[in-house]
Amino acid sequence: MDLKDLKSLEFSELKALTEEIGEPGYRAKQIFSWLHKGAGFDDMTNISKSARQKLSEVSFISGMRIAQKYVSRLDGTVKYLFEADDGNCVEGVVMRYKHGISMCISSQVGCGMGCGFCASTIGGRVRNLSAGEIISQIITARLDMGERIDNIVMMGIGEPLDNYDNVIKFLRNVNHGEGLNIGYRHISLSTCGLVNRIYDLAEENLPITLSVSLHAPNNEIRGKLMPVNRKFPVEVLIKACREYIKATGRRISFEYSLISGVNDSEENARELAELLSGMLCHVNLIPVNHVEETGFYKGSREEINKFRDRLVRLGVNATIRRELGSDISASCGQLRKRNMRRV
Ligand code: SAH
Repeated sequence: MDLKDLKSLEFSELKALTEEIGEPGYRAKQIFSWLHKGAGFDDMTNISKSARQKLSEVSFISGMRIAQKYVSRLDGTVKYLFEADDGNCVEGVVMRYKHGISMCISSQVGCGMGCGFCASTIGGRVRNLSAGEIISQIITARLDMGERIDNIVMMGIGEPLDNYDNVIKFLRNVNHGEGLNIGYRHISLSTCGLVNRIYDLAEENLPITLSVSLHAPNNEIRGKLMPVNRKFPVEVLIKACREYIKATGRRISFEYSLISGVNDSEENARELAELLSGMLCHVNLIPVNHVEETGFYKGSREEINKFRDRLVRLGVNATIRRELGSDISASCGQLRKRNMRRV
C-alpha cells in the first residue's frame, strides 16, 4: 500500500484518514495543527501512542531541511537552500518589510518555462513539489527564525500554475485556521501567463493577489523573452487578465523586468500604457538581475526611473521593486544553480 503524505492532504482528507484508522474526527484538528508546527509523530504528545502508531503505518510526514542559509548584512534578508527528502533542492527567501515579514517560496524543482532571463529554468523542470513540500518551506523557516511569517509570495523557483493541483491544495492548507492561518489577502502568486489556468484560478474563489509576468508590451519582444508567449500571446493573456479582474474584483499586479535596450524605450512605455489602459492593475518594475548565461543587463538608475515616470505620466500605477539581499544572491534560482554546478 502507498503511504499517504500527511502534509499534502487537505484538512477534509486528513479527517477522513483519521476516521479510517478508528480515531474520532476531532483528532484531525490536533494532527493538522502539529503537522504545521513541523512536528513528527513522536512530538504529537496529546495523541495516544497507539493512534500515532496506526497513523505512521499508513502515512509519512514530508519535510524540507535547511541545506544552506545566508543572511544579508545589508537588510537582514535570509536566503535558504532547502533540501527535499529525495535530495532535490529549492530556494526560499525571507524579507523584512515595514508591514511585516514576507517569504518567497518555490513551487517546482527547476522550471520548464524557459524564460530567457531567468536562472531557475536553466536545466529545465525536474519535478513538481508536493503541497506538503511547498508548505514545509514556510514551516521550516518559521521554526528556524522563531518568528511568524505574515505574507507569502509564490515567486521562487518554478511556475506555480504548471503545478496547479498541488498549489491549490497548498493555498487551502496554509490558510486553514488550525494550521498557519495566513489570510489569502496576504498571499501573492506569480505566473508567466498560463492562460487556461488563470481562468481556472478565477473560479477557485481564493482572494489572493495574482501577479503576471508580462515583461514586454508586444508579441515581438515577449516572444523573444518568453517561450510561453507562443502558446498564449499578449492579447490572449491580457484578455484573460481583464476577465480575471472582472470575475474576482481583485487587482492584478504585472511584473516587468526592465532589460537595458530590450524593453525599456520610450515607445515601450507608451505601448505598455496603452495595453493596460483602464485596467485595475499595478506594474511592478524589476531591474533585471544579471544572470551569467543570459547576456541581459539592467539599465542605470536614471533610465529605470525615467521608464517609471513615463508610465506614471501615462496614467499607469507603477513602482520600482526594492532590491533586497543583493549581497547574498537573493533572487531565486541563483543559489540552486550554483549548487548544481558543484555537484
Ligand atoms: N514562474 C513564475 C514565478 C517565478 S519568478 C513567473 O514567471 O511569474 C518571479 C518573477 O521574477 C517573475 O516575474 C520572473 O519573470 C522574474 N525574474 C526571473 N528572472 C529574473 C531576472 N534575472 N531578473 C529579474 N526578474 C526575473
